[in-house]
Amino acid sequence: MNATMTATADAAIERAREVLEQVPDPEIPVVSIRELGILRDVRRADDGQLEVVITPTYSGCPAMSQIAEDVAHALDAAGLAPYRIETTLSPAWTTDWITDDAREKLRAYGIAPPTGRCGTTAAAPAERPIAFIPKPLAAPACPRCGSAHTERLAQFGSTACKALYRCIDCREPFDYFKPY
Ligand SMILES: [Zn+2]
Repeated sequence: MNATMTATADAAIERAREVLEQVPDPEIPVVSIRELGILRDVRRADDGQLEVVITPTYSGCPAMSQIAEDVAHALDAAGLAPYRIETTLSPAWTTDWITDDAREKLRAYGIAPPTGRCGTTAAAPAERPIAFIPKPLAAPACPRCGSAHTERLAQFGSTACKALYRCIDCREPFDYFKPY
């Protein structure tokens, strides 16, 4: 491969990244699939084809086929065909991959972002004596008024990814994006 071909290949990947930056999550249109951590990679495969790697948020998430369609549509519209969309399940998606910007956008949208990080790869603190009992999750703050006085109404909200909470102070119900 000569230098000119390499430059062309890089330009296509750059263009694909720009285009995919604009693809929103089907369920939460204020954040992009890149910001949610669903878009894992845009690369040149070994056979030279443009390859986009996506990881579903929750297994069996019905939005996943929609996301693949949206990715394909965006790439087609930008004239980036041929390409390949790879779905990878390992490592599994985690709410830790949601960018800080996206957490702010979720809050502004009325969805409480996940509190803390799952930190699945981090070692458990040595001072925690009973490691097999899950630590109760802190109640999320109300995304509207910021109050910490919230209560859970249901384990599942508008989707399985979210729990339904209510703010005790402003009385508004809201979705909480559960740490995962
Ligand atoms: Zn409130």
